[in-house]
Amino acid sequence: MKEFISLQNWIHERSDLKRAHRTIGFVPTMGALHAGHASLLKRAREENDFVVLSIYVNPTQFNNPNDLAKYPITIENDREVAREAGVDAILLPRYDEIYPDGYRYKVSENEFSKLLCGAHRPGHFDGVLTVVMKLLNLVQADRAYFGEKDFQQLQLIKGMVEAFFMTTAIVACPTVRETDGLAMSSRNLNLNPRARDQAPQLREVLVNTPTSLEAREKLSQLGFDVDYVEDLHGRRFAAATLGGVRLIDNVAR
Ligand code: AMP
Repeated sequence: MKEFISLQNWIHERSDLKRAHRTIGFVPTMGALHAGHASLLKRAREENDFVVLSIYVNPTQFNNPNDLAKYPITIENDREVAREAGVDAILLPRYDEIYPDGYRYKVSENEFSKLLCGAHRPGHFDGVLTVVMKLLNLVQADRAYFGEKDFQQLQLIKGMVEAFFMTTAIVACPTVRETDGLAMSSRNLNLNPRARDQAPQLREVLVNTPTSLEAREKLSQLGFDVDYVEDLHGRRFAAATLGGVRLIDNVAR
């Protein structure tokens, strides 16, 4: 398993792969890897000759500096997860290489990105779409894998790839959950034991409550600080903070 901090070195490697007609599968992440990420990596391993994982905690998508400062970093464990999943290369770029322009140029979407998480995290999806475009252009993968856990993000990335005639196929992967139903997330590492016990109620309420309004009320009563619960396009979406950790989830309706 190779590691690339220098993008120039990665681009040389990429040229060799392209010359040899090897297909590339790509999984972009912010690290603190768990079984959700591993499921994307395994799918990429099955469908491609060469698997690239990126680990980059992208500052431009954090609207809250405290959230960025608290974001978990577990690089040794990440290497282990990557090795087990059969990753061929890890990209670990630095800010100045990803943003040589100092974030003067950005990708924006003006409809769906304004709803749900976008309504509560100003600039978040500009940061996400911009870094994903940069990474997709850098990796030039045949396929890139994204989780339905971040359903709004997944839809926006699919839309961007279509809108800009990008050639990487976007592959959607189902949400991986803990046995108690909690959607796996790097941020779960920041839940205190009490909040961790309570957190599975988010999904339980989304699944078992007739209306989004009632679901919102129930979650508030249970002690969640609710950003939104909304039914849209045949799914129910929610974001809520518990014990200082913002959780998101979505389920089919
Ligand atoms: P992140 O590191 O949180 O930015 O996530 C990197 C990728 O992993 C994104 O495409 C996420 O949607 C996906 N992902 C994160 N958590 C899960 C999960 N529990 N199940 C499936 N995919 C996930």
